[in-house]
Amino acid sequence: SKTDPILENPVEIQKKLIETISKEPKAARIMHICGTHERTISKFGIRSLLPPEIEVLSGPGCPVCVTPDNDIDTAIILAKKGLTVVTFGDMLRVPGTEESLFDARAEGADVRMVYSIDDAVKIANENPEKKIVFLAIGFETTIPTTAAAILRGLPSNFYIFTSLKLTPPAIDLLIQDINVDAFIAPGHVAVITGTAPFSSFEKMGYPVVVAGFESYDILLAVAMLQKQLKEGAAKIENAYPRAVKAEGNKIALKMMDDVFDVSDSDWRGLGTIPNSGFVLKEKYKDHNAAILFYDLYKDELTRLEEVRKKKKKNCICATILTGKATPEKCPMFKKACTPSTPVGPCMVSDEGMCHSWYKYNRD
Ligand code: SF4
Repeated sequence: SKTDPILENPVEIQKKLIETISKEPKAARIMHICGTHERTISKFGIRSLLPPEIEVLSGPGCPVCVTPDNDIDTAIILAKKGLTVVTFGDMLRVPGTEESLFDARAEGADVRMVYSIDDAVKIANENPEKKIVFLAIGFETTIPTTAAAILRGLPSNFYIFTSLKLTPPAIDLLIQDINVDAFIAPGHVAVITGTAPFSSFEKMGYPVVVAGFESYDILLAVAMLQKQLKEGAAKIENAYPRAVKAEGNKIALKMMDDVFDVSDSDWRGLGTIPNSGFVLKEKYKDHNAAILFYDLYKDELTRLEEVRKKKKKNCICATILTGKATPEKCPMFKKACTPSTPVGPCMVSDEGMCHSWYKYNRD
């Protein structure tokens, strides 16, 4: 964009941003809530470029990581009951209570990987004799794509199990109980929602900056947050004006509103958060897998919930998602748990904090 000077000489600007940040830095714990931000921060070693007084933490920003055990288990149960389950690649590898979708596939269940809901609809059209269940995960960033496909019309053998998450209610919950001084907000969510949903930070007295996904975007956000912290300010600022408008994307918001109702939703690490998810509207009840196949999965899901209660929890992914620990605090990190042998969801997704730390922190 010609309107964003940061793009004209990003290298030089990054050097200046690091100088600015490093000049009498104010000690601060800054949390981002986005897996893509974590990937940029880890990949470019941004933590090592910042003065030691500034700590950057990762919050619950990776859709694979926040999908709860129950939703993964439900998809596995449905696949083992003879339905075709389709979802994104990372979801196949996330361990459920006893196994993953990948394991279920190895045992003969029909589990397929797709890159989008459109791929899933194509499978349904090509296999009219099968019942296709799409496990839909994601935040505001990708939900409009799902909404658009539904509005285009779904085959009668296509069902959706929604595990879609809305960011603002999770933020509201997070800031009740967290030792953080400022936040970096996810630019791609704000592209859809605008900046208003991040007003909770401001109201609770936290500075917040909406940031893009390049290394210079992150550094700019940190510099702007430092300025606010030094001035004692607490407001929303937009460091990603080349993509984010204050009002968001009205067309995408309307599509989501046409297709989904807001509902309570379970988040790994945060529990059930009121009004933090989407379910299909009543008019799409013929495609609602959670309701139509409830009798198929409810008993086995209850059994798995009991198994989980008795299981010793070794994975501290839930603690990491709330910024209370970093991956190296987990005794399994880089030992039993690696990207090729993931024990928890934070190691599966390349947006998960454990995965990013494994891949890029080579100390
Ligand atoms: Fe869980 Fe593995 Fe991360 Fe440990 S390293 S918290 S086991 S995902």
